[in-house]
Amino acid sequence: MIRFDDVDVTFGEHHAVRGLDLEIREGEFFTLLGPSGCGKTTALRSLAGFIQPSRGRIFIGDRDVTNVASEKRGVGMVFQNYALFPSMNVRENIAFGLAVRKTPKAEQRRLVDEVAERTGLASAQLDKNVAELSGGQQQRVAIARALVLTPKILLLDEPLSNLDAKLRVQLREQLKQLQHEVGVTTVYVTHDQEEALTLSDRIAVLDAGELQQVGTPEEIYDRSATSFVCRFIGESNRLTPTVLRRLRESAATSGAAFDLPLLAEDAESYVRPEKVSVTVDAPVSGAARGTLSVDGTVEGRTYHGSHSVYTVAVDDAKLRVSVPGTAAAKRWEPGTRVTLGMDPRWVLQYPGS
Ligand code: ATP
Repeated sequence: MIRFDDVDVTFGEHHAVRGLDLEIREGEFFTLLGPSGCGKTTALRSLAGFIQPSRGRIFIGDRDVTNVASEKRGVGMVFQNYALFPSMNVRENIAFGLAVRKTPKAEQRRLVDEVAERTGLASAQLDKNVAELSGGQQQRVAIARALVLTPKILLLDEPLSNLDAKLRVQLREQLKQLQHEVGVTTVYVTHDQEEALTLSDRIAVLDAGELQQVGTPEEIYDRSATSFVCRFIGESNRLTPTVLRRLRESAATSGAAFDLPLLAEDAESYVRPEKVSVTVDAPVSGAARGTLSVDGTVEGRTYHGSHSVYTVAVDDAKLRVSVPGTAAAKRWEPGTRVTLGMDPRWVLQYPGS
């Protein structure tokens, strides 16, 4: 449906996007994710036709749109600040593009009513001035204004970032639901990894203008392709050479298949906090068959309602371990000796930089 073919975007000397190759499927909710300045907005804007790539081609369907004007690409865009017209009421804002297209008035009315219902805007709100609406409602108006033109592609640039945390989570779910119902191919830009994981069918992670990985949320999180992705998404514990040596020793006794080149000096190894189990009074010989283990001492605990996070000292390293709510009731006090266990499948390893 959408293809970036070796796209470069430069601003003077600055390379904002480098050699971007990307394919986005029809109907997909696709997210461009990365830290501030990684080039995600630039990639989105070049798809929208606001920016011209300095190299490469962009395709929508079979059509090469690299030199096609924005309004002829069949894309609808929602901006972070909504960019609504303050002098118009909600209905006029939503109908704006229809009016430009000279759609008959009665048809405009019908289409606006339909899209308003779909996006969760009550009919009483349609006559209000946009300034009277809450941030969440303004965001709905911006989406309705884009959708009413039945774009082939919906582009969203951090549409939730101006909202408070609770509303953001609520709207996230509604947005996902809406996209599912409408079925429009959606490209979403965010720096918020949780938003990306919860909303997307697939995610592209960018760093410094370069694509790091494309995959489903599960692939990005559990099978991070680079150490950048591993560190950027969620939390991860870097395993020190000492911890790695101990884990390898435990593999010898438990029979775990641990054939990673673990002691390579410059390799980076990580494990996510919830992939580590905690037991007390484990046999000295290590954890269950097939797992890796290492002994440590509890240093502290923070309570998060659904789970607790323990900091466990293992020689020169401190590992953060996430334990679900029910097990948290055990409350291991500081000083408790524990055994940390992990399945070798969840140890992520990258060549050193
Ligand atoms: P943010 O979330 O902060 O917008 P981003 O990942 O979307 O970050 P971009 O906005 O795509 O990043 O910007 C990528 C790089 O290109 C940044 O270093 C930015 O300063 C630069 N840049 C973006 N637009 C322009 C422009 N019009 N002129 C010059 N430099 C630009």
